[in-house]
Amino acid sequence: MAKLFTKNDNGFVCRACGKEVKPLGYSSRNHCPFCLASLHVDINPGDRACECTGIMYPIGVEPSSKGYIITHKCSVCGKVGRNKSADDDSQHLLIKYTNPYNIPDFTEGKRREK
Ligand SMILES: [Zn+2]
Ligand SMILES: [Zn+2]
Repeated sequence: MAKLFTKNDNGFVCRACGKEVKPLGYSSRNHCPFCLASLHVDINPGDRACECTGIMYPIGVEPSSKGYIITHKCSVCGKVGRNKSADDDSQHLLIKYTNPYNIPDFTEGKRREK
């Protein structure tokens, strides 16, 4: 099938963990299923209209009735966004990150206080 690339559901190589991420298929992929990091590329979900392109790291995960809600924070501009988890996200990490003490401090220079 000769189909032009649609911008919203391509695979990509995760800039946080370096793994190759396949297109999600049913929705536009918002974050890496392996490390849950995202990229700051959207102003509104899926529009890819933001030029920041900083890596957005997970800073919190909450269980909800429709899966998990991941809170991301941009390592460049500090913008915080909430996103639904995808079907193939690492369940292990999602469960682990529901406890904020299990989330590594991804931002350099800002060490978590002991
Ligand atoms: Zn990743
Ligand atoms: Zn940003």
